[in-house]
Amino acid sequence: MAELDLDFARDALGPLEHYVTIPCISPDYDATWQEAGHLERAAEHLCQWAKTRAIGDLSVSIEQLPGRTPLLFCEIGATSDTTSGTVGIYGHFDKQPPLGNWSEGLEPFTPVVRNGKLFGRGTADDGYSIFAGLLAVEALEKAGIPHSRIVLIIEGSEESGSPDLEPYMDALADRLGDLQLLICLDSGAQTYDRLWLTQSLRGNVTCTLHVGVLEHGMHSGEAGGVVPSSFRILRHLLDRIEDSATGEILLPELHAAVPADHHARFVEVADELGDPVGEAIATISGLELHGDSGLDRLITQAWKPALAFTGIAGVPSIDIAGNVLRASTTAKLSFRLPPSVDAQVAAAAIVRALEANPPHDAVVSVTIDRALGQGWQCPTPAPWLASAIEKASIAGFDRGPSWTSEGGSIPFLAQLGARFPGLAILATGVLGPGANAHGPDESLDLAMANGVTQAVASLLGDFAANAN
Ligand SMILES: [Zn+2]
Repeated sequence: MAELDLDFARDALGPLEHYVTIPCISPDYDATWQEAGHLERAAEHLCQWAKTRAIGDLSVSIEQLPGRTPLLFCEIGATSDTTSGTVGIYGHFDKQPPLGNWSEGLEPFTPVVRNGKLFGRGTADDGYSIFAGLLAVEALEKAGIPHSRIVLIIEGSEESGSPDLEPYMDALADRLGDLQLLICLDSGAQTYDRLWLTQSLRGNVTCTLHVGVLEHGMHSGEAGGVVPSSFRILRHLLDRIEDSATGEILLPELHAAVPADHHARFVEVADELGDPVGEAIATISGLELHGDSGLDRLITQAWKPALAFTGIAGVPSIDIAGNVLRASTTAKLSFRLPPSVDAQVAAAAIVRALEANPPHDAVVSVTIDRALGQGWQCPTPAPWLASAIEKASIAGFDRGPSWTSEGGSIPFLAQLGARFPGLAILATGVLGPGANAHGPDESLDLAMANGVTQAVASLLGDFAANAN
């Protein structure tokens, strides 16, 4: 492909810095999101920027269904009437909450550029996406390279499990067009020197487990030993689903075998990079991780079920802990599931295991959260797409691509795969080592963003060339 006039930082940095200042936190983490209006402001800001781009046939709108987060929708007409099909580009503009203490001089909603990285919440996950998509198209048009019809779907509820996306896909069905390829710009990378494609994502089921034993807390001298403790019952129940010595998940419904082609790619990554999963994890010094090799940890992170205990209620903080036997304990549980496990089946198995035969006839209830995250496996690319991916990585980085898996979830991809059977879906992104999406010190590597944008341009050009 001809050299493109494309410079991500030149064209995106200023408006992206402004986006950092907007605390547009996803609805699950901000109950006041509707009154606060930050998501609306973010959509408006990105919409205004989008409208300034030098793209021939571009229309940008903010879609608003009642009670839903806004969605930014861009439609770009094909440059030639001989091209058929539509390419979709997916991203999101809602953010995770600040989470934890940010380092000296860094803050979630104050942009700081340091060593080629833009720090701030939502930069890499996933504010850069609309900039990458539109700058790629703009560069193609500037160079006179044909592209097909393109739509950008930039949603506002991803960090809450995308509950609003399906209703918008219904509402926009006619305007989506003949969607043939979707490029999801919300995924990860193991290094910053090439295009990384995602071969799979884990699923996610979250739930609340409640154990109640008393009408109200009682003197632990009076009730202790007589009343079964709600915390002990909770531990006992958790032992039904997780081996507390090893962390192994005990429910067979939550396990799946690793496909041979995925395994082969894990071997390639481990041979080249050693233990990228272990190295990316901020352990305290001396902590022993699960798994006995880099390969083992790549597979564990991508294909093994895991349980995280993410919140607790009914337990006071230590400074106000009285000498009482508490009335109840409620825990928030988050299960990551292998890509091929059916999230509905897994959720049902979790409820069955925890609610059966409550110890001591205590009150035990499990509430599964509204959004079930189905895992995903990338469909094998057609030959033209496989070679387009190769060229895209070379266009962006001067070297070929690699494939890896993500331990996280993008539930939307499975939904979309079910809605459009046969649709080619690629997931890629800028979340490499140290990007810290969801943690403190989130940053966007500006060179990586530029490379990914170049790669997107190359894919769009090849899609059109292939369709003709
Ligand atoms: Zn994201």
